[in-house]
Amino acid sequence: VVVIACPCALGLATPTALLVGTGRAAQLGIVVKSPEVLESTREITTFVWDKTGTLTEAQLEVFDVAEHEASRHTILAFAAAAERNSEHPLARAIVRAAQREHAPTWHASDFTTTAGMGVSATVWQPQADGSQTAVEVKVGKADFFTDVPSDDLPASFHGTTLVWVAADSEIIGAIALHAPLRPTAGAAVARLADMGISSVLLTGDRLEAADKVATELGITEVHANVLPGDKREVVKMLQRRGQTVAMVGDGVNDAAALAQAGAKGLGMAMGSGTDVAIAAADITLMRTDPLAAPTAITISRKTLRVIKQNLFWAFAYNVAAIPLAMAGVLNPMIAGAAMACSSVIVVLNSLRLRHAER
Ligand code: ADP
Ligand code: MG
Repeated sequence: VVVIACPCALGLATPTALLVGTGRAAQLGIVVKSPEVLESTREITTFVWDKTGTLTEAQLEVFDVAEHEASRHTILAFAAAAERNSEHPLARAIVRAAQREHAPTWHASDFTTTAGMGVSATVWQPQADGSQTAVEVKVGKADFFTDVPSDDLPASFHGTTLVWVAADSEIIGAIALHAPLRPTAGAAVARLADMGISSVLLTGDRLEAADKVATELGITEVHANVLPGDKREVVKMLQRRGQTVAMVGDGVNDAAALAQAGAKGLGMAMGSGTDVAIAAADITLMRTDPLAAPTAITISRKTLRVIKQNLFWAFAYNVAAIPLAMAGVLNPMIAGAAMACSSVIVVLNSLRLRHAER
């Protein structure tokens, strides 16, 4: 009885599966923070995707400038001067474009950033007589200004990420930016749909730009123009609707929403993202590949399934063999062999996870 009841298989059932499952995930670039996270993957009903940097490439490019009261060069010079200190991908793109097009470099001071809105600064514009005039420059989304002449925009600006540039409260132009979709974004949304998981798009960008991406990917629920502080509220709202949410994001502005999703579901950080997002997440996707998100769910679920199978076999063997041993009909040699066999079976079953794919 003692030989047969030695709980080796039972003891091995869970840790071996976890070890092999999370090891396989790591091979595929999916880092799971703790084993409890696997459990959360079971009930996920909804994926909330951040747009910029997650479904699209992290790097934006300026592709056009609409001139209102100033030349393209002047607009870029003002905007780049005001954005110089900003880490936002929009800001980096504007500074790069100004350099590429050899727009003049002007001195700026008194930088302020309004999260999810834009930046302002005092830019010192050189005059013909050698002096410099202070110009109050603002760069940001439409809501950042009292009034923007959006009717005058060229057709090519449709569905783009867009910032307006104002000098001394006068709109002088608009800059259209674009980030291409990541190549596997569509496949990721489609695979989740196959698994019965719906996708939601969540972004601070304007609705037009969000809608364009959503349509291309087949996402029907879009929350656009969401301020960084309100992204969490959107996740909460979905949770109140009874959905178990997994959120995928990369930015500082996604961290609170990632933590909120993680409280009842899952938070996933895209590896190119910021440290804050990674710290707030349960799972980090080391590859900047949206397909890694459904893969993380599949591997986690497979691991859970193997744990259950292992526990079943470990129990079944005891339930069948202990009464036999107690009745004295089991030779201790055979009991020892059976005991070892059950452990080997559990380990082999766990090792199947080594080849678990997507
Ligand atoms: P996202 O969800 O796309 O990362 P953010 O919350 O960072 O969005 O920004 C939302 C919007 O606010 C941007 O699309 C842009 O219009 C405006 N914005 C934010 N930061 C800046 C900035 N540094 N310069 C200009 N516009 C900005
Ligand atoms: Mg982002």
